[in-house]
Amino acid sequence: MSVPRLAAALLLSLLSAAAPSQATPVVRARRSLLGGQHIDGRCPPRFRRCLAFTFDDGPEIRTTPRLLDMLDAHHVRATFFVVGHRIDGEQPHHRAQRGLLREIVRRGHLLGNHTYHHVVLGNLRPSQIAFEIDRTGDIVERTTGRRPELMRAPFGLLTAPRSLGAVAARNLTPAYWMIDTHDWEVTSAEAVQDRFRRELLEHPYGGVVLMHDTRPWSVRAFPLIMQVVARRNAELVARGEAPFAILNLDQFVTPRGTEALRGAPLNLRRPNARRGAARR
Ligand SMILES: [Zn+2]
Repeated sequence: MSVPRLAAALLLSLLSAAAPSQATPVVRARRSLLGGQHIDGRCPPRFRRCLAFTFDDGPEIRTTPRLLDMLDAHHVRATFFVVGHRIDGEQPHHRAQRGLLREIVRRGHLLGNHTYHHVVLGNLRPSQIAFEIDRTGDIVERTTGRRPELMRAPFGLLTAPRSLGAVAARNLTPAYWMIDTHDWEVTSAEAVQDRFRRELLEHPYGGVVLMHDTRPWSVRAFPLIMQVVARRNAELVARGEAPFAILNLDQFVTPRGTEALRGAPLNLRRPNARRGAARR
């Protein structure tokens, strides 16, 4: 067996030994997020390389359940930024998608707020911004017993003072991304995998990954992306370098009550101006 193959085998055996049983998904104790922090998409300082998967625009009854099974199969916890109008109402799909919220939480994932109508918050009046955030937060809390503390503005656009102010006033933690799979502009799983591979070359230390669980090809791409990660990690380990740790967004912030960060202001001067931010 070659050195890289040996390293890959070793890494896989370590990962599988540490992984929880697939038959009984474990909901681990989660840290409470400190409102007002800011996740800019880069890895937390203690991780040299990381990936954290985030899925926006759902939940979608036709695609999200399959993704949940794939996440379980790969022992990955993720964050779902959900849109309020999908879970507000008494139509069968509304009820089913509220059930999905509960299932997402039951399987140990995080929920974040992605507004009610998926709109650019900065274009709205203050009362409309309040509706977009609060109505979505209310439904998630009523359905799951837990109010989202993470916020991702549609298209990553959170630059207008009144929308930033609304997020800060609610102690929400805005979350951006580093790796964009561009899954909204392709139509095959292989294309998403290819975009991910290219993004990983561009961002060699990884960070938060943006995907959409409303697209069937994104869901089908997830195991292909994990193949890319496994291969890359095997190469890194063989070279004696730190592999990508798979994290979730609660590992990007400091637990509530930490003195060093208590009262830390939301960084209003660093809105996400990264390339492509205006497209989703
Ligand atoms: Zn979105």
